[in-house]
Amino acid sequence: MQDNASASIGQVGYVSIEQPFGLQPPQVHCPICGQQQFVEQDDEYLETPCEHLAFVFGGEEDEFVYASADFSARFARFDAELDLRFPEEARVGEEYEEASSFYRDLFPRRLADLGYGAHLLALRITYGGMAEGSPVWFSDVYGFDYSTIRDEEA
Ligand SMILES: [Zn+2]
Repeated sequence: MQDNASASIGQVGYVSIEQPFGLQPPQVHCPICGQQQFVEQDDEYLETPCEHLAFVFGGEEDEFVYASADFSARFARFDAELDLRFPEEARVGEEYEEASSFYRDLFPRRLADLGYGAHLLALRITYGGMAEGSPVWFSDVYGFDYSTIRDEEA
């Protein structure tokens, strides 16, 4: 297949995966270089992002727990546009939710808003376990940016 600069931006690759109940949070490795993105050391999770990782959204934290410089810049632009569209007093109601939220099916739409296309692979991994006697589920989202691949890796 031919590819060139004028190729359309395409749709973000967004994949939802569910782990069996009771397993530890996912150990995600980069699909490009194979590096593990978090490692456990002395009961602590250390961020070990490779250059292809754009972001990690932590379901338990309910926010982005890792952002590359490129992702941060895209997010700042998105946020500034949102500020223009929705002044402080307009930040209520469904329309604002639809335009600003990152959860569930809105997540891939937000990634498109951030200017991502088919060069981004987002893995949404859902995992569950017992917490204080009740089952709880969380979904983390990992974004890998294939436009960061350099010649020697391609
Ligand atoms: Zn990598």
